[in-house]
Amino acid sequence: MIGTMSELISVSQAEALIAEHMPTFGSERVRLDDAAGRVLRQAVHAEHDHPPFDRVMMDGIATHWSDALPRRLRVAGAQMAGMRMQSLPGEGSCLEVTTGAMLPAGSDCVIPVEQLRRDGDDVVLADDCHPFAGQFIHRRGSDCVQGTLLLSPGMRLGPAEMALLAANGVASVEVAAMPSIAIVSTGDELVDVGAPLGEGQIRRSNDTAVRTALRMDGFDRVAMEHIVDDETATRERIAHLLERHDVLLLSGGVSMGQRDYVPAALAAQGVRKVFHRIAQKPGKPMWFGIGPRGQAVFALPGNPVSALVCATRYARPALRQAQGMARPAPEYVCLDQDVDTNPTLASFVPARVESDAMGRLVAYPVPSRTSGDFSSLPRTHGFVQLPPGPGRATAGAAAVFYRW
Ligand code: AMP
Ligand code: MG
Repeated sequence: MIGTMSELISVSQAEALIAEHMPTFGSERVRLDDAAGRVLRQAVHAEHDHPPFDRVMMDGIATHWSDALPRRLRVAGAQMAGMRMQSLPGEGSCLEVTTGAMLPAGSDCVIPVEQLRRDGDDVVLADDCHPFAGQFIHRRGSDCVQGTLLLSPGMRLGPAEMALLAANGVASVEVAAMPSIAIVSTGDELVDVGAPLGEGQIRRSNDTAVRTALRMDGFDRVAMEHIVDDETATRERIAHLLERHDVLLLSGGVSMGQRDYVPAALAAQGVRKVFHRIAQKPGKPMWFGIGPRGQAVFALPGNPVSALVCATRYARPALRQAQGMARPAPEYVCLDQDVDTNPTLASFVPARVESDAMGRLVAYPVPSRTSGDFSSLPRTHGFVQLPPGPGRATAGAAAVFYRW
C-alpha cells in the first residue's frame, strides 16, 4: 500500500503527460462586446490601410508647401474630421483642418494652430514657424497596409486586441469555447464558509482558491460541489459530474488514507488514470486522468498549499493550452537566499518577488512548514520550482517562478 519512489513521475513528465492528453474545447462565435478576456481562435487581418487616408495630425491649417510659401495665407474653407476630401483652391491659400481630417487635395503641409495668428480671412505664420513639406501628416497605410496580419489564434483579447478588432470591423469573433468545469471538494471535516463550525471541523477553502485561480484566466462556467467521505456517494457524485462537465477539479481524497475514495471512484466511472503521484513537494499525491468523453480530471491533494500549487502548476496551464494559448516563456527569478532542496523530490517554495536596482527579479522564499500552513501565502506572489538534488539551491541562483 505504501507508495514507492519508483511509482513517482517527474514534474516535467507530469506536465508533458497532461499536455499530451488534454482535450481541446473547440470554438464559438461571440459578439465583440462579449469577447473581452477570451482567447482568439481566428486570424484577423487589416480591413483597410491604417490610416485609410492621408490623415491630418494637428488642428491648424493645411497648405501647399514651397520655398516661397507666403507668411500670410488666405483661409479658403475648412476640412473638418469626417468630411469628404476638399481641394485647396490655389497657391497662397489654405484650408482650416482638424486632427483626424483627410488631408485636402493639393496640400502637403499642416501647420498647427499654435504657430498661427488669425487676421480676418487670413492666417499669419508666427516668426518662429518654419514649416516643411509633409509635416504633421499621417500617411495612408503608414501604420499598416490592408491585409496585414494583426491578430493570431491563441491571443488573449485584452484592451489593445479588442481595439484592433473594433477598428477592423470585426463585430463578431471566433473565440475558444468556455469549458464547463466542476470544482469538487471532498471530506467529512469540511464545512461551508457560512455554516457554524463544529468540533473537528474546518471550513473548506480549496474550492474557493481553485475557483479564483481559474477566474483569473476567465473561466466562468464553473459549478461547485462537495462530496462526503463515503465510497458510494463519491462514485455517484463523480458519475453525475462526468455527465455534465468537460473538466473536473477535485481536491482531497487522493492520498493513502482509509477514506481516500477518489482514485478508485474515478476508475470505477471509466476515468482512465494517466498518472498518480509526482516527485514533488508539496503535492505529491496528485492524480490526473481522462474521462470517457475525453473530460480532463485533475484530482488535487487536499492540503491547501498542495492544492493551490498543483492547480497553478498543472491545471491552469493545461486549461490555457486547451483553449489554444501558447505556453508562455518561463519567468526566471534569482534566489535571495540559500534554500534547502529535497534529494528526490522537486520543491515548490512559495516566494515573494521584487525587482532589485539592477532590474533583476529577486525571489524571497516564504517557506511554509507544512502543506497545511497557508496563512502566509497572501504575502507571496507564487512559488519557485527547485529541482531535486542533495544540498541546497544557493543564493543568487536562477529558478523558474510560477505566479499564483
Ligand atoms: P485529504 O487529502 O482528503 O486527506 O486532505 C488532506 C488535508 O487537507 C486534510 O487535513 C483536509 O482537511 C484538508 N483539506 C482537504 N480538502 C480541503 C478543502 N477543500 N479546504 C481546506 N482544506 C482541505
Ligand atoms: Mg479527505
